[in-house]
Amino acid sequence: MSQSVSKVAIVTGAARGIGEATARKLAGDGLAVAVVDLDEGACANVVTAIHDAGGSALAVGADVSDQKQVTAAVERVVADLGAPTVLVNNAGVLRDNLLFKMSEDDWETVMAVHLRGAFLFSREVQKHMVDANWGRIVNLSSTSALGNRGQANYAAAKAGLQGFTKTLAIELGRFGVTVNAVAPGFIVTDMTAATAARIGVDFADFSKAAVAQIPVGRAGRPEDVAHAVSFLVSEGASFVSGQVVYVAGGPRA
Ligand code: NAP
Repeated sequence: MSQSVSKVAIVTGAARGIGEATARKLAGDGLAVAVVDLDEGACANVVTAIHDAGGSALAVGADVSDQKQVTAAVERVVADLGAPTVLVNNAGVLRDNLLFKMSEDDWETVMAVHLRGAFLFSREVQKHMVDANWGRIVNLSSTSALGNRGQANYAAAKAGLQGFTKTLAIELGRFGVTVNAVAPGFIVTDMTAATAARIGVDFADFSKAAVAQIPVGRAGRPEDVAHAVSFLVSEGASFVSGQVVYVAGGPRA
């Protein structure tokens, strides 16, 4: 794959889960993909899988909430893959608790990774999109943006990302940049497994209860979300901007 003809994408939190599936999907679509996660070593398997499938990828370690690390990460992507014009803000954490038990640290950590992280990466990458007069930003929201018990911090961050998405769509549209959000429902990943463990429920039972609420009658897979991101990144989606696409097997789940 020639670097000069490939578009370059950055996917944050891509060492596993939805980010991994998205990195692999975009690489399959022909993009060179920077696989960004906290631990660069943890990205190696994803990069190897992309290389083995004939794609182009680079592992980059960065904490999305740290401005210096974000700047350094984007500089490395520019140097090693080329100027990025696709950004998927996917890195995420949970610090669930009922409001009366939620610590300030639980609140700040969730805001820092989801909101500050998406802000820092988008601000750093947008100049390359503006230079190219083309770009795609996809932010990971969640059905939790509509409200979810025990997730005041996460719901606020995921709803905040929807406002962030719509505002960037307005600001960057004139430069050929679309900005959208995908809002997954119940997707089987380490994150949902951790939620089940935290509340002391067996994951099979947790999944069964979730699926009972999902109109299409199954749990979501990381690939379901990756497919929606792939569409929003595609050339054909150039008139879709500022939207929130729920990937939840129904209107909400
Ligand atoms: P996951 O399996 O927990 O993966 C999240 C990844 O983000 C991990 O590799 C994690 O690294 C990384 N990460 C965490 N903090 C980071 C930071 N500060 N800088 C860089 N990377 C960081 O989660 P997932 O289920 O795939 O979720 C991906 C996104 O989809 C998240 O934004 C999540 O909120 C959203 N989402 C998920 C679901 C669902 O049902 N799974 C539903 C709706 C929305 P470490 O492993 O080192 O912590």
